[in-house]
Amino acid sequence: MRISIASGKGGTGKTLVATSLALALSDRHHVQLLDCDVEEPNDHVFLRPEITGRETVTIPVPKVNEEKCTHCRKCAEVCAYNAIAVLGNRVLTFPQLCHGCGACSYLCPEKAITEVGHEIGTVEWGRFGGVAFVHGRLTVGEAMAPPVIRKVKERVNNYDIAIVDVPPGTSCPVVEAIKGSDFCILVTEPTPFGLNDLALAVETVQELAVPCGVVLNRAGIGDSRVVDYCSENSIPVLLTIPLDLEIARLYSRGIALVAGMPQWKSSFLELFDMVTELVVERNRSAKR
Ligand code: SF4
Ligand code: SF4
Repeated sequence: MRISIASGKGGTGKTLVATSLALALSDRHHVQLLDCDVEEPNDHVFLRPEITGRETVTIPVPKVNEEKCTHCRKCAEVCAYNAIAVLGNRVLTFPQLCHGCGACSYLCPEKAITEVGHEIGTVEWGRFGGVAFVHGRLTVGEAMAPPVIRKVKERVNNYDIAIVDVPPGTSCPVVEAIKGSDFCILVTEPTPFGLNDLALAVETVQELAVPCGVVLNRAGIGDSRVVDYCSENSIPVLLTIPLDLEIARLYSRGIALVAGMPQWKSSFLELFDMVTELVVERNRSAKR
């Protein structure tokens, strides 16, 4: 089963949930934790895995053979991302803007463009206890997170449970990370901002046809509008984590919640059981 952990905005406790769920399950199951928050991966801070492998992520970007080029501008016209420009008798390329789509090299009438690999990030993997760990890191200054996320997800194997830590927000990297999940846990907090971002995140997962439920973090601040919203939209609130000084202290020291407060382990196991039930029920309904 593949469970993604997402949130409409950063700082809501997504990492806390992803790492604690992985650790809680690792006594009973084979678990993989895949940190796809490639612009700011931090699951490793809480797990401190032993890293055993590393791979560079590249995308194909154009390289122009000026001797063949006639400066016809076709490449610049076809590029939707302004990653290639023709200025007078020079062709300029901007690898940081390139999406590696290959359109320019395909359409160049002189076959003056070849593709070369441009490094945009890395993927590392290793293990912490019973958790197989993978994370990606986008190189500073690069904009193309989805190919790095795809590389992280390529490492999903036959372990029982894959937990995918999704980047915050609702943009392309979020879609890339959630795609293929059996269930998405949306982490939010009971504030007006939390509600606004939760509603956007729900729209995203619904468009992807992935069932979802909510973990309410820092309960006790704000008001009841997030709970009301969930109730009105038939979205289950699967776990409530209170605003608590000790939990905040553990987080600031880079200690996973279930590691610092083992009494929380049963709550995360119950969270998993609820998710499993919802997935099974959904699969049953789909077959009817
Ligand atoms: S399409 Fe080819 S020939 Fe035309 S400007 Fe671009 S690189 Fe040069
Ligand atoms: S590969 Fe695609 S995105 Fe990159 S420069 Fe060519 S047309 Fe633009």
